[in-house]
Amino acid sequence: MVRFRPCETCGRIIEASSSALCHRCGDQDEEHFEKVRDFIKQHPQVSIPVVAEATNVSESSIREMIRDGRLKLNDPAMFSYD
Ligand SMILES: [Zn+2]
Repeated sequence: MVRFRPCETCGRIIEASSSALCHRCGDQDEEHFEKVRDFIKQHPQVSIPVVAEATNVSESSIREMIRDGRLKLNDPAMFSYD
């Protein structure tokens, strides 16, 4: 039997066996991640609010990427955690 649960971002019902996000949010998340990653690569010394403004990705999304270990920071002390 297939089980379902809501997408973590938009709440759309997706198969529980797939990723935490629906296809649409997953694509958008990947796009955001690449933008943030590229920006930090070019500007390693900026803080989260600057990155958020430059990439148009929310600060909470960026913090989540850092928490998940997807973003590798040169100087984690530059970033404050909630
Ligand atoms: Zn979604």
